[in-house]
Amino acid sequence: MEHVAVNPWVALAYLIAGVCFILALRGLSSPTTSQRGNRFGMIGMGIAVVTTLVTHVPVTTTLIEGYDYAALIARIDYVAALEIVAAIAIGAVIGVTTARRIAMTAMPQLVAAFHSLVGLAAVLVAAAAFLNPVAFGIARILVDPLSGTPLAYILPVSRIEMGLGVAIGAITFSGSVIAFLKLNGNMGGAPIMLPGRHVINLGVLAAILLLVAYFTVDQSPWVFWTITILSFAIGFLLIIPIGGADMPVVVSMLNSYSGWAAAAMGFTLHNSAMIITGALVGSSGAILSYIMCRAMNRSFISVIAGGFGSAPDAGAGGAAKVDRPWKRGSAEDAAFLMSQAEQVIIVPGYGMAVAQAQHVLREMADKLKEHGVRVKYAIHPVAGRMPGHMNVLLAEANVPYDEVFELEDINSEFAQTDVAFVIGANDVTNPAAKTDKTSPIYGMPVLDVEKAKTVLFVKRSMGGVGYAGVDNDVFYMDNTMMLLADAKKMVEEIVKSLD
Ligand code: NDP
Repeated sequence: MEHVAVNPWVALAYLIAGVCFILALRGLSSPTTSQRGNRFGMIGMGIAVVTTLVTHVPVTTTLIEGYDYAALIARIDYVAALEIVAAIAIGAVIGVTTARRIAMTAMPQLVAAFHSLVGLAAVLVAAAAFLNPVAFGIARILVDPLSGTPLAYILPVSRIEMGLGVAIGAITFSGSVIAFLKLNGNMGGAPIMLPGRHVINLGVLAAILLLVAYFTVDQSPWVFWTITILSFAIGFLLIIPIGGADMPVVVSMLNSYSGWAAAAMGFTLHNSAMIITGALVGSSGAILSYIMCRAMNRSFISVIAGGFGSAPDAGAGGAAKVDRPWKRGSAEDAAFLMSQAEQVIIVPGYGMAVAQAQHVLREMADKLKEHGVRVKYAIHPVAGRMPGHMNVLLAEANVPYDEVFELEDINSEFAQTDVAFVIGANDVTNPAAKTDKTSPIYGMPVLDVEKAKTVLFVKRSMGGVGYAGVDNDVFYMDNTMMLLADAKKMVEEIVKSLD
């Protein structure tokens, strides 16, 4: 495949695509503008893909000078073009089908799966460039003075790009596969701790960096493939010790890695749109990871070091302590208490997503408003299984945005609130995070639901624990009433009672 001579329109098209991506990120920062943001992203990607395709038409003969399009058309390699079209069509069908079928609850693992594909693509591009550097325009043909055989000498700068690209891509791939398996429940959420893992991890990382440096002076295949294999291994080793409760940070961190992997591919492929997009994804993912760490009051290093959420049944919903007294309520009790309240704060969590209770929850809020009750929603930054999980579900159910508040904006209000209605949330309400230094979630900011006059806690059983695998003192408080049922069924009953 050869490149058509650089066309000034290409730079302009990529610039427009880059601006669209920036507008997309800006739009995605708020639920009200997120759909517009998504559209900008789609337009930007459409422009970038079409521009790349028309400027990288596969041709059968050598470089075409100038803008001789008639000559270009005569040389098109139709078999290669057909392969590209077929690959795009297959990818598009898989993408559209997955997007239509995927349940909101499975979104985090889907994101992890997509990151793994970006990582794998980076590895494949780097491998293709390594095996055929002349086709990628990153090598000079030199003749070996001893044997007289021609040798493709890969430019040192390209070797660094390729080495880093394959390393980041392989880490993203294997790390995302483990994140997928953990989020999808194929692997337990509990951290798997290897003895001496810090030493092993640091050793492997140092070896990768040294090999990337050595690759600049020796382009032997063993160097390239050792970097690849060690990077696959380190991605795996880095993620297995990370417990379920730290998964949000891991998912956004892998998002960041996938961006840097794409940027590295952009250098290898001389594609500025890919470099821009990769850098945008890489840096926004890094910023999101930082915000998530702050939301959980954990340092990035301690997340990467792993081992959080190490309770034996973490993520598996195993048995918790149930030997303390607790009060059980019915849908009628809940309806009565809430209809008498001045203000109700609804705290949704992962269980609401599992039960798909968001629509009936909005119905309940509408009924309460008819009774003159003020209704607000409190969203914890890591409620659910991915950043923004709750916001997306509530938006899907047309909950007005001005009723939805972030943790820091609403936490002080629980003390003046009559009812905190916790629906399928657990870890994000656990006061142990504030008081119990031995708790795996100690230090994570939580919603102060226990300060409300009454706490109504919807979950299926007293045995089920949250993702971090720890018991919650709120269940056993005097002002708590447990509403044990599937979230959707319980809220439907409450709506009936409110009628
Ligand atoms: P939790 O996992 O802590 O709690 C979920 C609760 O929902 C449990 O009490 C469970 O109890 C209940 N539940 C489950 N299914 C149903 C159902 N059908 N009906 C009613 N209740 C149900 O969720 P939170 O949202 O409070 O906390 C999120 C946790 O997930 C945090 O630890 C966070 O770190 C982690 N996490 C977050 C990610 C993110 O990006 N937001 C990503 C990955 C992990 P029971 O089984 O008894 O019903």
